[in-house]
Amino acid sequence: MSARARGGRRGSRQGRGRTGGRAGGRRVFFFGDGRADGRASQRDTLGGKGANLAEMTRLGLPVPPGFTIATAVAKAFAEGGGRVPAGVLREARAALARVERIMGARFGDPEHPLLLSVRSGSPVSMPGMMDTVLNLGLSDQTVAGLAERAGERFAWDSYRRFVQMFGDVVLGVPHERFEACLESVRDEVGASEDTQLGAGDLRRVTREYLEIVRAHTGAAFPQDPPEQLERAIAAVFRSWNNERAVRYRRLHGISDSLGTAVNVQAMVFGNMGEGCATGVAFTRDPNTGDKRFYGEYLENAQGEDVVAGIRTPQPINEASRSGSSLPSLEQQMPAVYRKLLRIAKRLERHYRDMQDIEFTVQQGRLWLLQTRTGKRTPTAAVRIAVDLVKERMLRREQAVCRVDPAQLDRLLHPTLDPNVRRDVLARGLPASPGAAVGAIVFSADVAEARAKAGEKVILVRAETSPDDIHGLHAAEGVLTTRGGMTSHAAVVARGMGKPCVVGCGAARIDEAARTLRVGGRELGEGDALTLDGTTGEVMAGRLPTVTPELGGAFTELMGWADRLRRLRVRTNADTPHDARVGREFGAEGIGLCRTEHMFFEPARVIAVREMILATTREERVRALAKLEPVQQSDFAGIFRAMDGLPVTVRLLDPPLHEFLPQNDDEIRELAEALDTGPAEVRARVDALREFNPMLGHRGCRLGITFPEIYEMQVRAILRAAREVAGEGIRVEPEIMIPLVAHESELARLRALVTREAARVLGDRPNIGLRVGTMIEVPRAALTAGAIAASADFFSFGTNDLTQMTYALSRDDAGRFLPEYIEMGILEDDPFVSIDESGIGELMRIAVQRGRAARADLTLGLCGEHGGDPKSVRFCHALGLDYVSCSPYRVPIARLAAAQAAVGER
Ligand code: ADP
Ligand code: MG
Ligand code: MG
Repeated sequence: MSARARGGRRGSRQGRGRTGGRAGGRRVFFFGDGRADGRASQRDTLGGKGANLAEMTRLGLPVPPGFTIATAVAKAFAEGGGRVPAGVLREARAALARVERIMGARFGDPEHPLLLSVRSGSPVSMPGMMDTVLNLGLSDQTVAGLAERAGERFAWDSYRRFVQMFGDVVLGVPHERFEACLESVRDEVGASEDTQLGAGDLRRVTREYLEIVRAHTGAAFPQDPPEQLERAIAAVFRSWNNERAVRYRRLHGISDSLGTAVNVQAMVFGNMGEGCATGVAFTRDPNTGDKRFYGEYLENAQGEDVVAGIRTPQPINEASRSGSSLPSLEQQMPAVYRKLLRIAKRLERHYRDMQDIEFTVQQGRLWLLQTRTGKRTPTAAVRIAVDLVKERMLRREQAVCRVDPAQLDRLLHPTLDPNVRRDVLARGLPASPGAAVGAIVFSADVAEARAKAGEKVILVRAETSPDDIHGLHAAEGVLTTRGGMTSHAAVVARGMGKPCVVGCGAARIDEAARTLRVGGRELGEGDALTLDGTTGEVMAGRLPTVTPELGGAFTELMGWADRLRRLRVRTNADTPHDARVGREFGAEGIGLCRTEHMFFEPARVIAVREMILATTREERVRALAKLEPVQQSDFAGIFRAMDGLPVTVRLLDPPLHEFLPQNDDEIRELAEALDTGPAEVRARVDALREFNPMLGHRGCRLGITFPEIYEMQVRAILRAAREVAGEGIRVEPEIMIPLVAHESELARLRALVTREAARVLGDRPNIGLRVGTMIEVPRAALTAGAIAASADFFSFGTNDLTQMTYALSRDDAGRFLPEYIEMGILEDDPFVSIDESGIGELMRIAVQRGRAARADLTLGLCGEHGGDPKSVRFCHALGLDYVSCSPYRVPIARLAAAQAAVGER
């Protein structure tokens, strides 16, 4: 082998000279014996697999020779009605001749047949989604030649494998047919594993397979190797559009237009008996990120067998053992193992990342069949990125870009133990990640009561409303049968960092009977349930969870990210607890403190309702007086938690009807408090009803028509600020006015705030109060210049801005938006990632006009988009000062902001 490797290095230099200038029109890229037309950087052209096969060949590693048909051909193939262009076939034949020369065997030759693998490989990894055919080139004739040279058993084992794979992938014969046949032969001869089948058994299996194909397709199995090759290439191109691949691309946002490449490669055999094996290895532990070589292999087997799980694989070394008592590769084939380890180290250094390697050993000789960036858990991703910096393979800014910010979400929440089998009852939308385990409860009150008694509960509802807040707080997780990713339950749960599955249509709740019917089972209150908010799975019983540790590596990486980013990150927090969590996660202030959540607490909501239903100013002022001290203490708690950091408090925003009593009990209770009758209360509630509350009497409109509400809130904020400042704590209050559409609204309310501030703080205000507005109405964005005259800051409320600009109701979009995305009409849910060309354009206008009117205007964004990596990048590019997101998303935003800054260099 060393001669080959040396030849390889020499060859690669020549190879580069030969390909120069011609690469543009090339559609077939040869690799083998140290030379390769392609290289690792040509992923788009060659697919990931092809590009890395070429690169490994250039590195002089032992890779079976072959060629890659470029992704561009996939397009020609589809447009040409499913035919491989003749020119490509000609180029392929020329490349095949080179493979034959290297291997010293001929494709289709009855004496010494060359066998091929035909492998898919797209620019973006789609593991297991597309097809591969192995052992191609076998026929009734060539199998005899192979048997002659390499043994009967091996030849027939290869032939039956080929007939099955070709039958399945190319001819569309259901693979169960083959499996059933194999099983019955195994049973008949009393073999528990395929390896126990003899040559005669395998010959019989193959003959039966050929019959299965004839019966299913009505034609004999193709016996002509060139025809086999052409049809296999076509099938791999077609597999780009198989249902599973299409669905996978939708789910992962991969473009359909990339297309797959096809790799045709000489077979090497791990199933030739003694000294043969096949396996996969990772250069580091993909679960923990530990620096240890890790992997599994099977003796006397072919690649597919390892993944298929038909036999228990053996560990490659002690580090990979995890309970297995089988001998390791290191013990069985020490020389091969050492060589594999050496190559693994080399590949990792070369690619500067953890690699996932496929290898095969044919009669003691090691072959590399694939290398790619290894998939890893979030914990491992962070650990590896940091370690690679320490090992001088990466610079810090590169390491920061190695971790997918969205992955951090999972790092911060407990997850289900991956080693436990899941009995999935149903699947909903994965609205908020992490695992939750607890007893089923059907109402917020029961949730609260049971949680107070120390029980862990899962709140199960058709949907939730603001009235359920205390239940959401108390529960470990939330399951709803209706609603989408931006439904109330989803948004609130995400904000609280609670696992949540929404829109689980397969589950039925019977409120009266207090039962949940799902997956053919009926569960009652108190029964155990497990939710996986990361996958949307709902499972019966209590599954064990694991809490990921935020070790030193995480802190270190985040520290690097913080030094790189320009965009600041604040958190949305309505309670001191959330404020503290956000701060622990690195928030640099509060960008949104919603005051209405404080109103929903059961003890307060009565006073809130009195305030709303008041018919005179006096009544309203009296009710507000009850709320003022509680609001003040809420704010004081938050200011204390955020010592030294800015806190943006938004004045009351939602339409008042949201606070109103819903049922007879609540109406009676309120009537008593108001000293009137239920009928009177009901009449007043009806009078408040609006046709279109989201566009109705809400936000600053309330502050203008009922100034005493905002006056009370301003006083509570400033008294809290003064109180806390007296304790030696640094307070930076910011008051934010919601739903401003016209500059006069803000001018008027700014005057109100200033007036109240003067009353509270006197003429020597030692507290620097800033006043600003949400930009969430399209008109406000367009007239940002005029609005900036009264604003110290803008904060984009992109939830409402999206809703209003898109004429898309957040609460109803679930009915058609998933279909829109499925059909490709929209690429992303605009409530998840900012619609850059529409809503983003309005933001651009507002930034420009706002800053032109006032250079020192602070610009931020609050809302769900603040924790979405793509939207964070956009905010960075837009030049915002900060984004604000729910506490658990703060690290995501920090990392995404750093990546945006690095990407700009
Ligand atoms: P996937 O993309 O699903 O991993 P691959 O193209 O890598 O599919 O092939 C599937 C299996 O076949 C792998 O285990 C691989 O190692 C094996 N295989 C592919 N090409 C060859 C070959 N030339 N010789 C031996 N085994 C091969
Ligand atoms: Mg593979
Ligand atoms: Mg809003």
